[in-house]
Amino acid sequence: MTVVELVTGTRQRLHGVWQESLARTGHLLVANSVLTAGAGVLYWLLAARLYLPAVVGVNSAAISAMMLLAGAAQLNLMSALLRFLPTSGRAAGRMIRNAYLVGAGLSGVVAVGFLLGLRFWAPALTGLLGPIPNAAGFVVATMLWAMFVMQDNALVAGTYGSGTWITNDILPLGTTTTEIEREPTHLFKPAGAIRVRRNVNQDTPFPPEVPHALNPPPGCHFNPRCPHAMAVCRERYPEASLDTATHVVHCHLYPEGKG
Ligand code: SF4
Repeated sequence: MTVVELVTGTRQRLHGVWQESLARTGHLLVANSVLTAGAGVLYWLLAARLYLPAVVGVNSAAISAMMLLAGAAQLNLMSALLRFLPTSGRAAGRMIRNAYLVGAGLSGVVAVGFLLGLRFWAPALTGLLGPIPNAAGFVVATMLWAMFVMQDNALVAGTYGSGTWITNDILPLGTTTTEIEREPTHLFKPAGAIRVRRNVNQDTPFPPEVPHALNPPPGCHFNPRCPHAMAVCRERYPEASLDTATHVVHCHLYPEGKG
């Protein structure tokens, strides 16, 4: 394989991954984690090189306090988002907004309380967090951190990360004939469905924490990855059409009576 073929093939594969909304979201989350971790390493490397150990220690303690307060004050709403967002339907936006408001607001209140009692529980931080601008920065940072810890789960649940729809492309390929290719539309007989899950000795139905397809995209469930998706596909679930004795199709490309 030549270098040109390698570059071209890699570019095509990357393009294919980018076109898949589920894969794109997953890769962006991984990239986000790597970038955040990398920025943290760089930050502390530079801080250790540029400042005295005592200064780095006090700032590190302040950042740890900020993360601890925000983590507690967001009341584990990050997990609540992951659990309830997939079934919230049109209320999803309001749910995320309220979670951010409650988490950030409570974090602000807790941060102010922490600053008011600073000399009792963290006297070593009074020099850093005593001045008004630094104290205000601490409060704002705590509020922002609370939203930051919630946003990953909001993104996963809000982009349909809790359910995966798999289309069977193999069956049509294996059963296609010349006659079928001449037809404008052909309804393949679906194969038997198989459900696979890890054996954890739990009887059906699934407990709430086991992912299942409760979080479909609005409209046709395939619209994020369908190359023929139209505006209507994102708004309305397609009604059954082309109803023959054994086959039904749900697709806006085939309105009732056509095919
Ligand atoms: S309704 Fe048909 S055309 Fe529209 S997204 Fe679904 S499969 Fe694609």
